[in-house]
Amino acid sequence: MIDLVYPNDQFRIDGKRIKIPNLGWVKMRENLRLQGKILSAKIFKQGGKWFVSVVAELQDIIKPQPKTDKQVGIDLGITDLATLSNGEKIQAPKPLKNKLKQLRRLNKSLSRKQKGSKNREKAKTKLSRLHFKISCIRKDFTHKLTSNLVKRFETICIENLNVKGMVKNKKLSCTINDLGFYEFKRQLIYKANQWGKTIKELDRFYPSSKTCSCCGFIMDKANLTLAVRYWTCPNCKTSHDRDVNASINILNHATKVLTN
Ligand SMILES: [Zn+2]
Repeated sequence: MIDLVYPNDQFRIDGKRIKIPNLGWVKMRENLRLQGKILSAKIFKQGGKWFVSVVAELQDIIKPQPKTDKQVGIDLGITDLATLSNGEKIQAPKPLKNKLKQLRRLNKSLSRKQKGSKNREKAKTKLSRLHFKISCIRKDFTHKLTSNLVKRFETICIENLNVKGMVKNKKLSCTINDLGFYEFKRQLIYKANQWGKTIKELDRFYPSSKTCSCCGFIMDKANLTLAVRYWTCPNCKTSHDRDVNASINILNHATKVLTN
């Protein structure tokens, strides 16, 4: 499908509607959120729905935030989506979990339909709509999460996601958390650059889960499987929440600066 792109003299936006050549006024789902000189509009179809993407020239929309002096380490996980070194746990949104269940059901139902049949076509359309919905929920959630983090913290430390992504994708693809580590990192970096914040990454593989954040003792891998959520350090006897401990280690050991 070809995207239709119109320069600003060929369309008009008035509140929740847009006037497009040959079509006239078309209702939009929401008002244009941008204020500034409108340059062009692109009309395209995705997941069976029509979209218009508007390009506008903005001037100084981002105001630097007051300095907070706050630092945080983030562990991206399986049980919780993200655990912060201050003990906060962020869960995946409920609608996403439901939609993923639905996705598994639809996939099964598709595989049972006869090839070339009408029902198979119908199931395919349903599936592509669901994929699109899921990607919207994920995007929306990731955007809210990264904005929230960048506003609240001055320095944000993350794992080396290249390593983590590799390990996770093999073992845990299809869990909610293959929600795009890279997209999460990409958003964090560009937002931090806009707001004048710093993102740091562990610059190599560091055993953030297995290391005691109090004394540095490294646990034996065999004793700390993914199922173990709490553990006590045999050396200094500190009790750890697995993910909080990991995020504290990430905060303390991240050195590679990703922002400019
Ligand atoms: Zn210890």
